[in-house]
Amino acid sequence: MMLSTFRADLHIHTCLSPCAELDMTPRRILRRAMEMSLDIIAITDHNASENIEAAMAVESPVTVIAGMEITTSEEAHIIALMPDTESLRSLREVIRGNMPSGMGTKMAYEQVIVNEHDEVEGFVKELLINATLLDAYSVINLIHEHRGLAIAAHVDREVFSILTQFGFIPPDMDFDGLEISFRTSPEEAERGLSSYRRYPWIRSSDAHHLVDIGRCYTEFHLREPSFEEIKMALRSLKGRGVTIHG
Ligand SMILES: [Zn+2]
Ligand SMILES: [Zn+2]
Repeated sequence: MMLSTFRADLHIHTCLSPCAELDMTPRRILRRAMEMSLDIIAITDHNASENIEAAMAVESPVTVIAGMEITTSEEAHIIALMPDTESLRSLREVIRGNMPSGMGTKMAYEQVIVNEHDEVEGFVKELLINATLLDAYSVINLIHEHRGLAIAAHVDREVFSILTQFGFIPPDMDFDGLEISFRTSPEEAERGLSSYRRYPWIRSSDAHHLVDIGRCYTEFHLREPSFEEIKMALRSLKGRGVTIHG
């Protein structure tokens, strides 16, 4: 069976995330991903997923994985990579029901829902930058119940990571992988994070601006660019595997 190498950036925000640039629209993101020779991207907005269908509808050789970046009640970020839009939508509904109530809507115009032609369809009103009411263990369980993969986001970042919020990664936290950010080179990660080699590592851009897309990436050895193959690679099954780059 033939395996090929696929270049993936599995952490990209769209204009739905209040902290992302408004020009992070699906068509522009996919054009930039192609320019950066990416084969696979994941769309991972903060606590929401309303732009995933638009991103998947853009005609592009780049495969789009459905994802979300969930903020736990401890203010740690966890990336959910989901098998399909239905499971993501269902996960999003649970997140919606676990956002703090009574928060203002002044940022709603910075939380833009667009279609695949980059036209504005509407706005998300609840403040997506907030932490959810769910702790890290609950978020990981929830992702798994929805058949997704739970990745500890930017573990090398000085804020909003499992490592900073807990001081270490509790051994019973059932992560499918750890994400290293652009801040840390693969060599530095080997030195500084070697005690967390029990998890597979990926490296992603966490792009909030178009120019950031693909600034670092993960190489997956897969039969085809799909969620199921990525899942096998993270488990090193049947020759699949993963290497961090950039
Ligand atoms: Zn984050
Ligand atoms: Zn992010």
